[in-house]
Amino acid sequence: MKTLTCIVIGAGYAGIHAMNEIRKNLNNGNKKQSIKFVLIDKNKYHLRKVILFKPAVTDEDICIPLTQLFPEGVELVQATVTEIIKAENKLLLRSINDVVQELRYDILVVAAGSIIRRPEESQGGLPLATLNDAINIRKAWQANLRQAVEEANPLERERLMTIAVAGAGISGIETAAELAYHVRTDAQQLGLDPNQVHISLYNAHERLFLDGPGKVAMKLEHILSDNGVEVVHGSRVLREEAGSLSLSGGVKLPVGLCVWTLGLMPNPIVKQWGLPVTAAGFVIIDESYRVKGTSGIYSIGDCASVINPDSGRSDGMTCKEAIPQAARLGKVVAADLEGQSAPAHTSYMDSFSIGIGPKNGLTWVHKWGIDFIITGKMGYRIKQLTWNLGSSIK
Ligand SMILES: Cc1cc2nc3c(=O)[nH]c(=O)nc-3n(C[C@H](O)[C@H](O)[C@H](O)COP(=O)(O)OP(=O)(O)OC[C@H]3O[C@@H](n4cnc5c(N)ncnc54)[C@H](O)[C@@H]3O)c2cc1C
Repeated sequence: MKTLTCIVIGAGYAGIHAMNEIRKNLNNGNKKQSIKFVLIDKNKYHLRKVILFKPAVTDEDICIPLTQLFPEGVELVQATVTEIIKAENKLLLRSINDVVQELRYDILVVAAGSIIRRPEESQGGLPLATLNDAINIRKAWQANLRQAVEEANPLERERLMTIAVAGAGISGIETAAELAYHVRTDAQQLGLDPNQVHISLYNAHERLFLDGPGKVAMKLEHILSDNGVEVVHGSRVLREEAGSLSLSGGVKLPVGLCVWTLGLMPNPIVKQWGLPVTAAGFVIIDESYRVKGTSGIYSIGDCASVINPDSGRSDGMTCKEAIPQAARLGKVVAADLEGQSAPAHTSYMDSFSIGIGPKNGLTWVHKWGIDFIITGKMGYRIKQLTWNLGSSIK
């Protein structure tokens, strides 16, 4: 009996759930077939990307070793996939020691996710795009606070205690709220006046939360303001240079730190791998996640252009959408192997859960034409639950 090899590229939210779901469906259904499962990631851990702002404010570890998520039944390979040779069903990988290896696949799931946009180097400030960036941000505001303790000039002290968050998507909102809480707490502990800490969130648009209704955006802004975050609408940060923030409209403001939270873009590597992509760089797939023009290759998550075949609506780049895609993919792969008809993609319900500091949150669900909104501690508990479920933490 031939052993099939099923490879998943990427141990993000889409990849870890895809691996679980494919194993569950193939082990239950296709018992006659022996299958080897391989999960490849450039890291030996799953990065809890949705809480990337945590290391910017605390020493919380946001990496889960893959051996913990997959103690058995899956071969874990730490390497960067550099090439997909579709004609030969092969991958080329480069290990951390620069050793190049070849792997054959029968089923390949491309879940290479997204990268976080970075500003140009000339724009200054610090991006929140990687784990290291988050650690650097924490070091920077802590150094500023220590300097503020020694600073005799009140204006300079206030500048050191001023942080601009540039980009008001969900990650900007969550980052600003976490900073507001932790920077004030630390300032107080250092004997500084916490009221001198200013956190401003700069929004290029005229309101927050364009993915939901205006009333939810208003509520969100009120909670942020109660938590000490000033939201500045219709204002684009152009650059931060030598403690001065330049905004669209010619405004210049003193600032101690500028943190960029510029959102996600599909991982550009999928194009380099020769997969068909949209103009925006998403892998083109059919309604059951099969990569167009290939055989045995599927793609889901942030790197794929996932479109509801009934409504034509695109899924967003969120893990709450990637996880149901992974659940469906498990059934699709099993159906394809057995020559049966496979399920097609359907959209996830309209919902968002947003953390606003370590004790507050807002959950919005749109169902049966009604907007359900939960705020406060309960909103935060729901948020924590979704963060944990996303990373398979019980
Ligand atoms: C700050 C922040 C907050 C967010 N908050 C939320 C939220 O509250 N709710 C929500 O639903 N979504 C949220 N998101 C979005 C969510 O993080 C993404 O939608 C999710 O990570 C997508 O999962 P993925 O598996 O497709 O991609 P990723 O999580 O990007 O995973 C891709 C994986 O592929 C690996 N990889 C990439 N290239 C290679 C290669 N060449 N070789 C080997 N491995 C490779 C990477 O190392 C990574 O592990 C947030 C994002 C950010 C940045």
